Amino acid sequence: MNYQVDEKGYYGVFGGAYIPEMLYPNIKELREKYLEFIEDPKFQEEYVMLLKDYVGRPSPLFLAERLSKKYGAKIYLKREDLNHTGAHKINNTVGQILVAERLGKKRIIAETGAGQHGVATATVCALKGLECIVYMGAVDIERQAPNVARMKMMGATVIPATSGSQTLKDATNEALRDWINHPTDTHYILGSVVGPHPYPDMVARFQSIISEETKWQLQEKTGKSTPDYVLACVGGGSNAMGMFYHFLADEDVKLIAVEAAGKGVDSGESAATTLLGKEGVLHGSRSLVMQTEDGQVVEPYSISAGLDYPGIGPQHAHLFTSRRALYVSITDDEAMLAGMELSKLEGIIPAIETAHALAYLGKMKFKEDDTVVVCLSGRGDKDLDTYMKYFGL
Ligand SMILES: *Cc1c(COP(=O)(O)O)cnc(C)c1O
Repeated sequence: MNYQVDEKGYYGVFGGAYIPEMLYPNIKELREKYLEFIEDPKFQEEYVMLLKDYVGRPSPLFLAERLSKKYGAKIYLKREDLNHTGAHKINNTVGQILVAERLGKKRIIAETGAGQHGVATATVCALKGLECIVYMGAVDIERQAPNVARMKMMGATVIPATSGSQTLKDATNEALRDWINHPTDTHYILGSVVGPHPYPDMVARFQSIISEETKWQLQEKTGKSTPDYVLACVGGGSNAMGMFYHFLADEDVKLIAVEAAGKGVDSGESAATTLLGKEGVLHGSRSLVMQTEDGQVVEPYSISAGLDYPGIGPQHAHLFTSRRALYVSITDDEAMLAGMELSKLEGIIPAIETAHALAYLGKMKFKEDDTVVVCLSGRGDKDLDTYMKYFGL
């Protein structure tokens, strides 16, 4: 079974590039060049140097002893929270800024929800001295003031998206519209494994460093490069794709993707796309999308802004329908408790997105010698306000 993209840009029936004609030249250029760029030894040399000296990779693989004891398995945490800017997102923006340079683009645009991808994009634009414009829902700008300030400090312009629900989906629409209006000088740094081909494959390749490192770190620590289980949370699906990537062919590694159930999958306030979604096109690719009978996109909900997305990357849709990975969901309340538990047991405050993956540990049955890796996608600093309000701290 092959789980990677085919020459036409599809994963089974999912993927492709459903874009307005005005975007053809940009997407065509990217599709024709991205592999050539990434495989160039000079590109690899700079990418690896930046990941090491700027991002701080390799990120540690930490055996969480007290958490392991509680759940009766050997639980390792892949510490993406220790990366510069506090999450896995920087792996992708470092890769894409090098692509943008090689394409000769001077102007960078991005979409952002909670602001993490916007911050990671503003960061690499400052590093390279490129103009940076970030589209962000007006509601999210209100909710995520510290990240807006970070972007501004690093020289980015933050433009509010005022259409629809004024959140991530609308910011993505605005960014795509900007790209249509700037067809020659602009590169769009998409933040997850979504969008038209080749974005899902390109972003997955940049995030695949997560599982590449995990394999040799496990080998060093346990004498075996594969675990029994791998867990990650899924918004669009980039940290999960990076965490799964080099384990896809190891069919005895069980892959578990954790979506946000919000207030419950039947509550009408949820973001559990594989449960609630149907086949459809969103932001340029065919995938699973939360939609009404007549195809209108449904507003998603999660307490974590990073999981609050009505779709899922096309490769995930393929892993779901082919059953290579298991897709489950966790409610707001379950995630908040898991975030508090990791803080108390290990002295690590996780992002609320990440806490969804951690919460699923409590729903699993382990054998004593099972090895489990959880992708700790980000740190919880950005979520302190939400934790404080929820727990009355
Ligand atoms: C953005 C974000 C996510 C969700 O995005 P994916 O593309 O699904 O990885 C998860 N965790 C953290 C910490 C994030 O910042």
